[in-house]
Formats: sequence, structure tokens, C-alpha cells
Amino acid sequence: MIADHHFAVDLRSDTVTRPTAQMRIAMAHAEVGDDVNDGDPTVQRLQHRVATLLGKEAALYFPSGTMANLTALLLHTRPGTEVLIDVNGHAVHWDMAGSAALAGIAYRLVTPSGLVANAIDVKRAMRPHDHYGIRASLVWLENTHNAAGGVITSLGELRALHNLAREAGLPTHLDGARLWNASIATGVSLADFSACADTVMVSFSKGLGAPVGAALVGSAADMSLADEIRKRLGGGMRQSGIIAAGALYGLEHHMERLEDDHAAARVFANIVNGVGGARVVAPDTNIVMIDLPVPVADDVVTACEKLGVKVSAWTPSRVRAVTHLDAPAHLVERAAACVAVALLASQS
Ligand SMILES: *Cc1c(COP(=O)(O)O)cnc(C)c1O
Repeated sequence: MIADHHFAVDLRSDTVTRPTAQMRIAMAHAEVGDDVNDGDPTVQRLQHRVATLLGKEAALYFPSGTMANLTALLLHTRPGTEVLIDVNGHAVHWDMAGSAALAGIAYRLVTPSGLVANAIDVKRAMRPHDHYGIRASLVWLENTHNAAGGVITSLGELRALHNLAREAGLPTHLDGARLWNASIATGVSLADFSACADTVMVSFSKGLGAPVGAALVGSAADMSLADEIRKRLGGGMRQSGIIAAGALYGLEHHMERLEDDHAAARVFANIVNGVGGARVVAPDTNIVMIDLPVPVADDVVTACEKLGVKVSAWTPSRVRAVTHLDAPAHLVERAAACVAVALLASQS
């Protein structure tokens, strides 16, 4: 009944979306130039649009969020210093240790008292000023927080974190790969969130459905330095207006619909929560984390796949499902029923 041969939905990540027909048309018709040489007009339009949306002086287009985040590290820190970051931060686990290998920094891992580290948690992790402790160079924030389950840090909390950093004389970087989702879910403007950090990374290839790219935003002076760092890292891209056009299209057409992903995630969570003892982190946005009573995430993933649903094993006892543009609500609901079947099968 549930598994028919035509049913397949991929909820491993919101990065799996493919450009829509309309987005491909926009890309095919993009006006382009040599961005490393004298600028690509479509990239410049994208950068201007993103800087305006986020209320910063300048923006720079990047091949990936990982490179934009690394650039922020290289911009704000010096080797031998430490960066205060939530222990579950995306950059801690998924940047291939670029922070250590390429920026020469240490992470000062902050243990969150709730789902995501707050200002009190970060303050607790700050070392006293003396000649023995490692010098801090940056406070790193993430909103929405991926590993916590797409969790939103409220504007009030973000301001408290920013104030704490400022009082300690530290700059702040916000990993906002899914800041769009936080803004749509709360109604807080991107610019208000963005004002809580010196630099912000936003991704186009997640919920907005573009094929490639991210942006770093900040002051004109910082983005001028970031431009040099990007080139040093091999991130100069010539006629990149082709892909930037996809990002622009996503910004214009796929932002408001993120609310659909959030609604689908809530429906999914309600169906799965409690089945076979599984506990779901109530989703703020489009990420659903399913905690299993026993470490059989791989079995659950395999069982789901047989039923036509792809999800990922986040940890041995946690399964992640992410809603997105290519997973319409009715398929997400069917997928949830399959996951429920898999949860029961994997734990019996
Ligand atoms: C995806 C993601 C990144 C990295 O972006 P890529 O474009 O995949 O390199 C960084 N931070 C968070 C929170 C992410 O979800």
C-alpha cells in the first residue's frame, strides 16, 4: 500500500533540489562578464541585492558556504587564536577542519544549556584575560542551527550574543546558510538578524533551490579584503553570472514559499513523533531531527529507502529529514508514513 514503484522522495537535505525550468531559463539568458577581471554584471546584481536585503555595505558571491565561512575566519582571526562556537556548530563538524588546517585557529567549543548556545553559555566559555589563556578572536553564531534541528535563535537572543562579543572586544560572524528560513518563520527581517554580526554567510543552494553558491556580507572594507582571500583560496569565478542568475531567481521566487517547507516539516514531525519510542525535536523550520531510543539510525535509513524515502543518519541514534522545494507537501506526508513504518520495523 505504502510502497509503490513510482514513489520516491529525497529528504536527505535541502541541497538536493534541482533548478526549475524557469530558473534554468533565467540562467541561460544571464548577462555575463569576467568576474575576476572587471566584474560579471549578473554577479554584481546578485551581490547588490544580497547586501541590500541584509543591510550591509557589500556582498561577495562564493562557490560554497564552506569557502565563505573559511574566508570569514581568515578575515577576522589570526593563527593561534580561538573562536567561540557552539559544540554542534556546522563548521565544527563539516568544514574538513579548514579552521585548523588553513586558518590555524582552535575552536573553543561552547556547550549549550538548551538546544543552541546562548549568551550565558558563551560567557561561561570565555577565558579570563591573562597571559596563560589562548586569546579569543571571534564569536561564531549559526541561525538557523542545523544540527540542533533547524532551530531559530530569536532576535533578542542574537542581540544578547552580539552585545556580549562587543563587550569582550570580539567581532561576530553569523553562519546564516538558512537565515532565510529564520526570517520567513519569524517575520524578523534579514537585515535585523544581520545587524547582530559583522559578517554573515548566506547560502543559495539550500532552501532557495539554486544550483551553486553562497554569499558573504559585511562592511565594504571587510569585503574588499574578503575578495583577496577568496582569490587566494581559488574562489575567483569568471562568467559566474550563469550560476548567480539561479541564485537571483531563487531569491525572487523561492523565498516566500519556505513557509510551505516549514509547514510540511511540522506535518512530518507530528506523524513520526512517538512512533516506536522515537522523539522528534519540534521543528522551527525545515529540518526534522528524529532521536531513536536505540542506535539503529543506519537500519532506519535502509528501511526507509526500501519504501522510497531517503533520509540521513545524522548520528547512530539520530535521523535527519529536511523538507524543500522538490518535495511537495503531499509527498512529505506520505514519506512520514513510510518513516513511521521503518521506525517500527527497525526497532522490533
Ligand atoms: C550547508 C551549510 C554550510 C556549508 O555550505 P556549503 O555551500 O555546503 O559549503 C555551512 N553552514 C551551515 C549551517 C550549512 O547548513
